[in-house]
Amino acid sequence: MNESALFKLSYGVYLCTGWNEGEPVGCVANSAMQITSKPATVAVSINKKNFTHGCIARTGHFAITMLAEDSDPMLIGKFGFRTAADFDKFADTPYRVRGKMPIPDGGLAYLCCKVVGSMDTPTHTVFLGEVYDCDVLRSAKPMTYAYYHEVLKGKTSANAPTFAAESEAAAHEVWVCTLCGYEYSGDIPFEELPDDWVCPICGVGKEYFQKR
Ligand code: FE
Repeated sequence: MNESALFKLSYGVYLCTGWNEGEPVGCVANSAMQITSKPATVAVSINKKNFTHGCIARTGHFAITMLAEDSDPMLIGKFGFRTAADFDKFADTPYRVRGKMPIPDGGLAYLCCKVVGSMDTPTHTVFLGEVYDCDVLRSAKPMTYAYYHEVLKGKTSANAPTFAAESEAAAHEVWVCTLCGYEYSGDIPFEELPDDWVCPICGVGKEYFQKR
C-alpha cells in the first residue's frame, strides 16, 4: 500500500469555531466538505485532542470560515499551531457574530451549523452539521491546502509569477520554524533580521527557527 496516494486528495483551509462557556474558540480544519444540498449539510473532521472538539460536542454547534489566499497567514498560525491551553486565540483576532457563532475577520465566507450527526473514529470525530446560516463576506480566491504549503510556508514566493522561482529561493539559506514549518529564505540573511522579527505564519520569535 502506497500511502502517499493520500496526499493526492485536495483540501481547503478552514477555521472551525464554536463557543466555550461564552468565549469563542476555534481551530484549523482541512477536512470539511458538503454532504447534501437539501437540506444543506457539511461534515468536518476534528481531532479529539483539540479543545474545540469538546466545545462542539457539548454545544452541538460549529461554524466553518473559509480562508482566502490573501487571508492573514497568522490566522492559520494562531488557530492551527497554538493551543487554547496556553494561548488565547481570539485575544487579537477581531470577529463578528453571525448566526450566533463567532466568525473571525479575514475569511471569505462562513457556514453556521447545527450538529445533526457524528461518526466516531479512534482519533477524530466527524461532525455532520446542518447549515442554518451562511454568507459570502467578500470576493477572493479560496485558499487550498496546496497553496498554503507551497506559497505561505515559503516553498515558493507569494510574489513569484510562477512556482519556478523555487530554484532562486534555493540559493539562499533556509531557516525553518520548528513550530509551524514555515521556511524563511529571504534576501536578508536570517541572522540580520531584527530581534523582534516573528514567524509570519505562527508568530513565534527567531529562537524557534533552525537552519536546515
Ligand atoms: Fe511558525
